[in-house]
Amino acid sequence: MAVALIVAAGRGERLGSDRPKALVTLGGRPMLEWSVATLRSVPEIEWIVVALPPEALDAAPAGTVAVAGGAVRSQSVREALRATRGGDPVVVHDAARPLAPAALFEQALAQLERSGVEAVIAAARVSDTIKEVGDDGRTVQRTLERARLWAVQTPQVFRRAALERVFRDASDELLAAATDDAWLIERAGGTVEVVESGARNLKVTTRTDLKLAELLLAELLLAEGPP
Ligand code: C5P
Repeated sequence: MAVALIVAAGRGERLGSDRPKALVTLGGRPMLEWSVATLRSVPEIEWIVVALPPEALDAAPAGTVAVAGGAVRSQSVREALRATRGGDPVVVHDAARPLAPAALFEQALAQLERSGVEAVIAAARVSDTIKEVGDDGRTVQRTLERARLWAVQTPQVFRRAALERVFRDASDELLAAATDDAWLIERAGGTVEVVESGARNLKVTTRTDLKLAELLLAELLLAEGPP
């Protein structure tokens, strides 16, 4: 059975709130509770660990295990993984993506099972053209081939042994440089596949994102009812 780690220990400064981002109200409840409710509806997931800021551990939803997160996101993932003794595969999800649908978790888990790779990660095709700029912060060096580019998101699902191995070997500096955990698998020679996600899996970073999430959520609740 799988275990899910939700990282919710970010401060959310860009949201301008007095509480951690994961606890900001979305659709009348703390943002974190939407992904917990969705994960509870995924049959393969046996238990859920939530990494929270140390002073907010009592905000963990009932039935989840709370752990104190680290200084950077990947350290929070490491702390949550350490709190689990079993559970394979491991699903890692950002509380900042409250609207990820249950089907996306199920697709990622099924693809991991089918393909035999070390990790499967949710990602979206990019619609903008992406250029690389040089050290002066201005001069375009090259234009990347858009058809091959994917914007990486969570959920990310991992074979437990592969995730444990990379975290065991990683220094705090490396974890600070890792903006997603799949990169750690890639640099250790593991294979990572993408699963395409839809528009509703947005990441809440700014006030505008929060407003957009409110609108999307209202539409989803009308169409589908609560998760
Ligand atoms: O800051 P950012 O939006 O990239 O964070 C992505 C996710 O990682 C959020 O859900 C946030 O709560 C979590 N995070 C964490 N521990 C940190 C920093 C971020 O759990 N130290």
